[in-house]
Amino acid sequence: MMNTTAGQDLLLSRVLAAAVGATDEQTDSLRVFVCGSAAPLPTEGRAQACLAVLTPEHYLVVDAGSGSANNLGLSGLPAQRLDGVLLTHFHSDHISDLPAVNVVSWAGGRKGPLRVYGPPGVARVVNGFNEAFAQDRMYRTMHHGRTFMPKAFGRLEAIEQPVESSLSLGDLTIQSFVVQHSPVEPAVGYRFEYKGRSVVITGDTIVTDRLREMVAGADLLVSEALSLPLVEAIKAAADHSGRSRAAKILFDIQDYHASVKDVADLTRSTDVDMTALYHLAPAPRNRLMENIFKREFTDNMVLTEDRMWFELPVGSTEIRIRHE
Ligand SMILES: [Zn+2]
Ligand SMILES: [Zn+2]
Repeated sequence: MMNTTAGQDLLLSRVLAAAVGATDEQTDSLRVFVCGSAAPLPTEGRAQACLAVLTPEHYLVVDAGSGSANNLGLSGLPAQRLDGVLLTHFHSDHISDLPAVNVVSWAGGRKGPLRVYGPPGVARVVNGFNEAFAQDRMYRTMHHGRTFMPKAFGRLEAIEQPVESSLSLGDLTIQSFVVQHSPVEPAVGYRFEYKGRSVVITGDTIVTDRLREMVAGADLLVSEALSLPLVEAIKAAADHSGRSRAAKILFDIQDYHASVKDVADLTRSTDVDMTALYHLAPAPRNRLMENIFKREFTDNMVLTEDRMWFELPVGSTEIRIRHE
């Protein structure tokens, strides 16, 4: 079948029919999609920090690191109804795919500029991207037509929020809270509440009392994590081979990320039902690294992969995990 033109066309149409709409289910639930599970350390098959949060009516993306727009597209997330992007802070691995997320959603039919929510400083990021992509917007409007892709809809719109603030979109409430990623200030995490289900996303931070308060009573914690045994081993190898700049960076990053042990302690000391780790420093490349990463795990901790789904149905305590 694969060797004839008609056979190839038939197979392709079946694959495409199965893929379209596969992920936009209308069950009443709070869902989290992992559009990027990696930190900036080199990795294969993983995009940098990105999580999508969906309800039947709303769709938000938290951070858009490099490669994340590709994952959103591959899994068919509903680009046309993207309500906004929430930024946790302005490190490159959290913002660099913002233009790609924007253009896909604009082409998909979004009715207005893409809202980019974030702590003070978000307007500077948005203004810079708007300027850098001004010509891109003009070309696309000229090529596809003013009514199909109006230039005004292709822009980003900054919505600056205090670090401690809350936002309501229908039944979905999003609370922004301060985290500790010094010298990066401001930096925030987000807690989502939807009809009795809740998810906390840490962004980049060490474990703090404020984070512990926000995690209390949540169903799912999606936390950044750094494996000290792995980072120390890679640092030692870098030292040994004379790569002093790499060794310095591997030392520096240890003081502003949460270690797996600290996240395990946080999980144990709160009543959170499940903790999923992302922004993996470093993302495991094989079973050995994965086992080392998991050394201090409690039995309700999981490692995320790109394009993994967590579904929290309303009216239950269940958390369903699905891999694409
Ligand atoms: Zn950061
Ligand atoms: Zn980061």
